[in-house]
Amino acid sequence: MSFLDYAPAPESRAIVSLKDDYGLFIGGEFVPGHGSSFRTISPATEEVLTTVSEADASDVDAAVQAARGAYDKVWSRMPGAERAKYLFRIARIIQERSRELAVAETLDNGKPIKETRDVDIPLVAAWFFYYAGWADKLDYATGSKNPQAWGVVGQVIPWNFPLMMLAWKIAPALAAGNTVVLKPAETTPVTALLFAEICQQAELPPGVVNIITGAGETGRELVSHEGIDKVAFTGSTPVGRAIARTLAGRSTALTLELGGKGANIVFDDAAFDEAVEGIIQGIFFNQGHVCCAGSRLLVQENVHDELLQRLQRRISTLRLGDPLDKNTDIGAINSKAQLDKITELAQSGVAEGATQWQADCALPSSGFWFAPTVFTDVQTSHRIAQEEIFGPVLSVLTFRTPDEAIAKANNTPFGLSAGVWTEKASRMLAVVDKLQAGVVWSNTFNKFDPTSPFGGYQESGYGREGGVPGLLSYLRPTTGAAVKK
Ligand code: NAD
Repeated sequence: MSFLDYAPAPESRAIVSLKDDYGLFIGGEFVPGHGSSFRTISPATEEVLTTVSEADASDVDAAVQAARGAYDKVWSRMPGAERAKYLFRIARIIQERSRELAVAETLDNGKPIKETRDVDIPLVAAWFFYYAGWADKLDYATGSKNPQAWGVVGQVIPWNFPLMMLAWKIAPALAAGNTVVLKPAETTPVTALLFAEICQQAELPPGVVNIITGAGETGRELVSHEGIDKVAFTGSTPVGRAIARTLAGRSTALTLELGGKGANIVFDDAAFDEAVEGIIQGIFFNQGHVCCAGSRLLVQENVHDELLQRLQRRISTLRLGDPLDKNTDIGAINSKAQLDKITELAQSGVAEGATQWQADCALPSSGFWFAPTVFTDVQTSHRIAQEEIFGPVLSVLTFRTPDEAIAKANNTPFGLSAGVWTEKASRMLAVVDKLQAGVVWSNTFNKFDPTSPFGGYQESGYGREGGVPGLLSYLRPTTGAAVKK
C-alpha cells in the first residue's frame, strides 16, 4: 500500500438475504421448475450465491398461460390510472429497497457498488416512475382513441445491467397494458428474482409479471412460443438474428437491442481534462460491459500523443478490485466465458500489429479480472476495431479532418452510440448530423434518462426503448381517429 492509498471501505452485504434456492415466478408465486437447477456465483470471488431453476418448455408454457389469463381477465380491463398505481408502488418499493438491490446486483454481476448504488438502481426506480406517469395517457402518447396493447410480451435480457434492463422492458410494457414473461441472463438472475418478490409486495395481480430463469434454450422456448404477441430482446447480434429468423413470417412483433462498437471522437479543440474523464466513463464504466460503450477512440492526429499521455496517467489511478468496496472503479468481469472472449480479442490485437498498453494493477487471485487496456496503432481492419469486445479494452485510431472522423466512425456494421468532443457547437452539430448512431453524446458519454429514447441502426437492432417511442413499441400500431384535445 502506498502512503496515499485508500483504506478499504466495503459495503456491508448483511442487507441481502438470499434463499438457498429459487423456483420460477409464475402466476404470482414461486413454483418449482421442471428442468435442472443451476448455481449463480459472484464473479469477484466465485462463491455460490444461490441455486435457481432452469425453466423447460412446460414451464415456459405455464408462464405464458399465466400471463395470458392475467391479460384477459384483469390487466387489459383495468383503467390506466389503476395500472399506474401499481407501477408507482413498485417504483417506491425499489427506492425503499435500493441498498439491498444495489448490493445484490454487485454480488451477482461483479460491477462496483458505486455504480449499482448511484446509477443502476436510481435509474431502475426512475424508469418505473416515468412510465407510471404514462399509463393513463396512452391516447395522448399515440394521438388516437383507445390504443391497444399487444397482449402477452416475451422479454429476454442480458447480464450487463440486469435490473436496469428488466426495468427498461417491464415498466413500459405494463404501462401500455401488456402482461409479461421475462427471462434474465443465466449468470445474473438474482435481482430479477428479488423483483418478483417486489411484485408480490406491491400486490401486483398474479400473472401480470412472470419471471423464468434459465439459459439460451429457455430463451429460445420463450421467444418461439405461439402464445406470445410481442418479443423484446436485448443481447448479442447473433442471438438477435436467430430470433428474427424464428419470428419471420409470424405476426409476432419484435424489437431488438443488440451490440455496438461506439466511436468517441476527440477534436484538437476539446477540453482535454473533461475528454479524458469522458473517455474513461465511455469504456471503463461497468468494465466496458456496455452495448453503447465508446470502445473506439478517434483522436485528431495532432493531439494524439498529448491526449494518450494524459489518458494513461489517469487510467493508472483507477482502482480495480472488490466490487463491494466503495472506492472501487473497476470490478470483476461477469463470467469466465466473457473473460476468455476479451482475452482472445486482445490477443488478436497484438497479433495483428496494434500496440497494447495495460494499467499496472494487481489482479485478485480468485474471480475473473481484466486490467484496463488501451490499444494504439490500430487499423480499421483490425478485429479490435470491428468486433464488440464487451470488456475494458479501448482501441485508439487517429484522423486528420472531420470528414475522415465521420467516415471512420461510420465504418462499422453496428450503429448504437457515438460521442463528439469539441468546444465548437457548429462543428459538433455538423458532425453529429452525419453519424449513423442511435444516440450521440457531446462533451459527455454514457448518460441515460427514461425520457430519452435509446436504440440502434444496422446490426445494433431496431425499435427504441425509453421515452414515448419506448412506450409506443408496446402498443399496436394505431389507425383510429385522432383524439380530440
Ligand atoms: P446473449 O445474446 O448471449 O444473451 C442475451 C440473453 O439471451 C440471455 O438471457 C441468454 O440466455 C438469451 N439467449 C441466448 N440464446 C438465446 C436464443 N437462442 N433465443 C433466445 N434467447 C437466448 O448476450 P449477452 O452475452 O448476455 O449480452 C451481451 C450482449 O448484449 C452484447 O452484445 C451487448 O452489446 C448486448 N446489449 C445490448 C444492449 C442494447 O440496448 N442495445 C444493452 C445491453 C446489452
